[in-house]
Amino acid sequence: MSIKEIAHHMRSLCLNHGTLPVSLRKERILKLKKSIQEKELLINQALREDLGKSTFETYATEIGFILDEIGHTLKNIDDWSKPKKVKTPLTLFPGKSTVYPDAYGVVLIISPWNYPFQLCLSPLIGAVAAGNRVVIKPSEFAPKTSSVIQLILEDVFKKDEVILVEGGVEETQILLKQKFDYIFFTGSTMVGKIIMKAASEYLTPVTLELGGKSPCLIEESANLDIAAKRCAWGKFLNAGQTCVAPDYVLVPRHLQEEFISKLKNHLQSFYGNVKSSKDYPRIINEKHFDRLMSLVIPEKLAIGGESIREEKYISPTVMKDVSWNDKVMEDEIFGPLLPIIPYDSLQEAIEHIVSRPKPLAFYVFSENESKRQEIITKVPFGGGCINDTVIHLANPNLPFGGVGTSGIGSYHGKKSFDTFTHYKSVFEQGSLVDIPLRYPPYEGKLSWLKLFIR
Ligand code: NAD
Repeated sequence: MSIKEIAHHMRSLCLNHGTLPVSLRKERILKLKKSIQEKELLINQALREDLGKSTFETYATEIGFILDEIGHTLKNIDDWSKPKKVKTPLTLFPGKSTVYPDAYGVVLIISPWNYPFQLCLSPLIGAVAAGNRVVIKPSEFAPKTSSVIQLILEDVFKKDEVILVEGGVEETQILLKQKFDYIFFTGSTMVGKIIMKAASEYLTPVTLELGGKSPCLIEESANLDIAAKRCAWGKFLNAGQTCVAPDYVLVPRHLQEEFISKLKNHLQSFYGNVKSSKDYPRIINEKHFDRLMSLVIPEKLAIGGESIREEKYISPTVMKDVSWNDKVMEDEIFGPLLPIIPYDSLQEAIEHIVSRPKPLAFYVFSENESKRQEIITKVPFGGGCINDTVIHLANPNLPFGGVGTSGIGSYHGKKSFDTFTHYKSVFEQGSLVDIPLRYPPYEGKLSWLKLFIR
């Protein structure tokens, strides 16, 4: 079937057979869990080939993440999908009011390459839990993972429930010309604009999970050793190819050298000889390798800077005394380069962050409660952590998404179900009682109305 036929077929199924019943959704999600568990070795192998990911990282950030999301969804789906009674004001007596969760219909999910397994399946779980049929377009840059996802989907779903469409820009653009009931996109801010423009043709609602530069602010009172350790972990996880990785660090000027020395120690204990470490991934392709290498400032190197193009290897690289005007501070880095900007005044540091586009994530390290609250309140951002990095994604009770140029909408846990659900509000009135107040002629009724509505 062509892409056009797939979209039409899904749509006509929705019109004729409706959305997926709750019992079927549960059955499919449980089967998805089993299939993932059976294919764990294949998934590991695919992610090792696409990105050089270690088995541990693959489990923590891809497989385990999805199994956790499945568990949370299965535990709550009965409750989430039930119609909910809401209060009815006296003016509408004796009626009752109910909100019915309703699937949108056919959802298009478009995913990037950096967590190619998780970022396809996490939105899929929410979309199916809510009762939608789904077309998934994974990234063309993680082909091995894409093939394993295809195997899993064929194992679990009928083709008219969930279908995977492979391809790059051209195929995505054909998909975007079709009518969908919801589009869920994860990727760059630049492509996010293309998606939203295309969606506007049919007024299709969208969730845009985008990127940007996520700052990490180290305040004077921070536990510097913990800050360095957790920054190093969050930054160099997946070789920096994480949408919520700390993009750059702001540190009090007099603490910069000490912070760098602690970073160095932690990197040594994490990876030893990084190049031969099985725990350190590779850059996705040569294009990104070249882009990243063009951002290195040799005279500002504090740690690392080694690279081997044929192996798409860039060592964890830290640059110091970086200024806001350096090229590395223009766009999202999305790789293992960590610029450190020393600051003299906390106020100034906050002003710099606030004057830039609203970040997807923001991290603050501080042992001073009032400073932490002041900073968190003053900076707008999608989500983040106090005294940690990246790990906020691991709590399904925290909705995950950006704000401004870092995204529109959010998901994970119940928020995923909500994202893919239209809440249909219905007021139900009986026919036995019919209070005449609302009907014309209105003469003499206004004072009565004012008794009820004020
Ligand atoms: P990308 O925007 O280049 O690609 C994402 C998807 O869009 C891919 O499936 C690709 O095939 C498609 N695409 C690319 N160009 C297109 C075009 N011109 N028209 C239509 N479709 C197109 O992003 P990427 O390089 O795969 O991923 C990196 C970006 O994703 C980073 O900016 C990162 O911050 C962001 N990201 C965000 C999140 C999040 O949850 N917010 C998660 C991961 C990655």
